[in-house]
Amino acid sequence: MTLIDENLLKISRKYLFPIIEEKRDSLRAQFPETQFVDLGVGDISQPLVPAVIEGIKQGATEMGHKPYGYGPYQGYEFLRETIADVEYGHVAIGANDIFISEGINSDLCGLQELCSRSARVGIIDPAYPVYYDLNLLAGRENIVRLPLTQENHFMPRPPEEPLDIVYLTSPGNPTGVAMTYDSLKEWVDWAKTHNALLFFDAAYAAFIRSENVPKTIYEVEGAEDVAIEMRSFSKSSGFTGLRLGYCVIPPQVRLFDEQGREHQMAKLWLNRQSTKTNGVSYPIQRAGEAALRGEGWHQCRAQVDAYLAGAKKIRHALEEMGFCCVGAEDSPYIWWQLPGHDSWKWFDRLLNECHIISIPGEGFGTVGEGYLRLSGFVAGELADLAVQYLQLLGAHCEN
Ligand code: PLP
Repeated sequence: MTLIDENLLKISRKYLFPIIEEKRDSLRAQFPETQFVDLGVGDISQPLVPAVIEGIKQGATEMGHKPYGYGPYQGYEFLRETIADVEYGHVAIGANDIFISEGINSDLCGLQELCSRSARVGIIDPAYPVYYDLNLLAGRENIVRLPLTQENHFMPRPPEEPLDIVYLTSPGNPTGVAMTYDSLKEWVDWAKTHNALLFFDAAYAAFIRSENVPKTIYEVEGAEDVAIEMRSFSKSSGFTGLRLGYCVIPPQVRLFDEQGREHQMAKLWLNRQSTKTNGVSYPIQRAGEAALRGEGWHQCRAQVDAYLAGAKKIRHALEEMGFCCVGAEDSPYIWWQLPGHDSWKWFDRLLNECHIISIPGEGFGTVGEGYLRLSGFVAGELADLAVQYLQLLGAHCEN
């Protein structure tokens, strides 16, 4: 008899999406002619830009001329150099500190494997649910929730107690709020004091437009000693279906063994990667390079701008109706504070009265109850339709 890993049974998140899908499908069956607007799952709604398609083609063509076998474990130098130049040219991060992967999810899963099972973990609430679930899967029991509320402007504050690992997201999902320099500095100082590690998820860095929001955590003095930054091409360049991302591990970041000896995290990561993965395909890495250079950069930036414009329209429409929201300034998400505290009730209202699919806030953690997350990955006409549908709700509210 093969026994399962009992930690797998602790994950409850899988129940949220089937409920949403069931409700949506039953309403679709009832009203087959109606166009529903999906502001639920945070996935892209625009096609790949031409420069990225050319990048894939170029990579494949090169592979037809000479053999490209297994690539370097850290990722091709051309891509790491490009990232270092375009994204980190203004800070002390170089191509050697960058490790290419198939996206943030796989980095999130892999990086925590380098840390002890007994590590004390801090996770923001509400948060991208993967942080909590993968620590449950790893069998960690000492998990502290760090609330994101209106009172702290949806920016987490360091706790009194020491922790070993803290997950931070900026710009945030689901709140859409980006952390300011001062708030990040507070975390960097705290991490140094407590010898803690910051796992900084910057999946939405390309959406940052506010002046006082750092584009990378390495703009904050001292962050290179304590922070690992994770980035992705998923939302910045439409790669959710292609898969490409990277993490930055500066050489100063250390882990400790039981004897108190230091180990360079970057070296441990390379050892781990060379055992557990054979990397990302060559044409996809070429496509990543194309997304960051010349025309590709402009085309991807235009897509992100279109999502931001769509998200802003939705937030504006809600505020016009008298609702309170945050987000949509440096992120595609709108975090909608509901008048009543029952987010499933509002989810149902939105679905039944407006044909809009959303996500109840409790799906991101208990502190998320009382909120709905709307994904602004809608551009142009789809955003207008969402606004039109939302206004139906306004009319019902007045009645
Ligand atoms: N991190 C956050 C905060 C996300 O919202 C998402 C996807 O929605 C991811 C990571 C996953 O990124 P990737 O597609 O690179 O795995």
